[in-house]
Amino acid sequence: MAFSPPSELCAICDRNEAALPKDKATLCPECYEKSEVLFDEEMRRVELIRTIRGRDVELYDIKHPDCNENNKHCGQVILIKAGQGFEVKICLRSNALDWMQHLEDEKAGFTSQDTRLDALIGNVTLLIESWGGGPHYMDIFYVNKVVSTEGEI
Ligand SMILES: [Zn+2]
Repeated sequence: MAFSPPSELCAICDRNEAALPKDKATLCPECYEKSEVLFDEEMRRVELIRTIRGRDVELYDIKHPDCNENNKHCGQVILIKAGQGFEVKICLRSNALDWMQHLEDEKAGFTSQDTRLDALIGNVTLLIESWGGGPHYMDIFYVNKVVSTEGEI
């Protein structure tokens, strides 16, 4: 008789059997699909606007419609090509938006395990792919004050 591991229940609804993702099942197909829809929606809401394009570095402004700061600006992403891979610095204004908020569909009463930050990282991952992909290292900084200067020497 083939041994089959005991089936786990879905981490969200705690009712149906966990079946997805295939490599490490934690969710039932229904909750998985709802989570995917919310994630895709949030990825579309997190806007990355390229402000500087260099040979090995790009700079992006992060904008989000729920952000109350000036011009919906809630941070920056710096993408640096380093050797075969990428170094990524994400600076988030700490008071602009709650990035740890879980994605939810209020009408359906469904809350995903994914956060806004996961959706932002999803967008950054797409940027890395657009540069050909590769190993990467991401640092995320929460910044509570931004001081800008301008000058010429
Ligand atoms: Zn479920």
